[in-house]
Amino acid sequence: MAEIIDGKRISSEIKEELKEEVAKLKAQGIEGCLAVIQVGNDAASSVYVRNKKKACEYIGIHSKSFELPENTTQEELLKLIGELNADSSVNGILVQLPLPGHIEEKTIINAISPKKDVDGFHPESVGSLTIGQKGFVSCTPAGIIELLKRSDVFIDGKNCVVVGRSNIVGKPMALLMLRENATVTITHSHTKNLKEICKSADILIVAVGKKEFITGEYIKEGAVVIDVGIHRDENNKLSGDVKYEEAAEKASKITPVPGGVGPMTIAMLMHNCVLAMKS
Ligand code: NDP
Repeated sequence: MAEIIDGKRISSEIKEELKEEVAKLKAQGIEGCLAVIQVGNDAASSVYVRNKKKACEYIGIHSKSFELPENTTQEELLKLIGELNADSSVNGILVQLPLPGHIEEKTIINAISPKKDVDGFHPESVGSLTIGQKGFVSCTPAGIIELLKRSDVFIDGKNCVVVGRSNIVGKPMALLMLRENATVTITHSHTKNLKEICKSADILIVAVGKKEFITGEYIKEGAVVIDVGIHRDENNKLSGDVKYEEAAEKASKITPVPGGVGPMTIAMLMHNCVLAMKS
């Protein structure tokens, strides 16, 4: 049976480290402030925003909350971002996604100053990651690297298969694994022989967005399995993109859902906020 990679414990460990770092920065007169913008009142987004603000409070940085009505125009949102970009008391800007349909996400992401892009979604941040320069890294993939390292998974030289190529998970994940010297295969909805490719993975990272899509048949004996997926059923029970019981029979280490990748995303957002304070 696989060993569980405990994202809850590791994320708490990271938040404790960040809390200490923030205290040291404060002693040098450096304060942190994250601006969190939410447009509309999507229930899931409200929970994420609340948790992000709570994490800020926990590690000792301020958060400025902007709860804008659903009918906010793109121009109004761009104006606010412009003001926050110019406000030297704000180190990080986060716009909670998804945005209402009349606002173009790409335009909003591109408007955030790369210096304050704590989500790591700005093209400049993505470009820096691609060519190995310093910059903010998308929080979920960055959290997965921390999960692997802090669970003593050796990445260098390993075969890594990433299922999914989204801009916020799959692609940055593949780039980060490449940076750690893994041999990386990216798969997507047009991939042929997905099962065989997944079975070649020493480290299998699944961000496909389909409930329990990856069964035991996709997993090599002894592989490390990271499940990024989050699915909530009608009874509020969470499950992932991986069929956990079957996968745990084959894997050497595995992340559960909940309690695996999920808690790492906010911890790494806080990490990015502390980086922003220092730059
Ligand atoms: P997207 O829907 O943006 O991307 C899904 C990817 O899976 C696409 O690249 C798609 O390929 C690929 N795909 C779809 N079907 C198949 C298939 N049959 N075979 C192979 N690949 C396939 O999802 P995200 O990356 O945003 O999220 C993935 C999951 O992770 C979701 O469940 C989401 O809720 C969760 N998530 C969890 C986070 C956390 O904090 N734990 C954070 C972010 C996401 P193609 O490009 O060809 O369409």
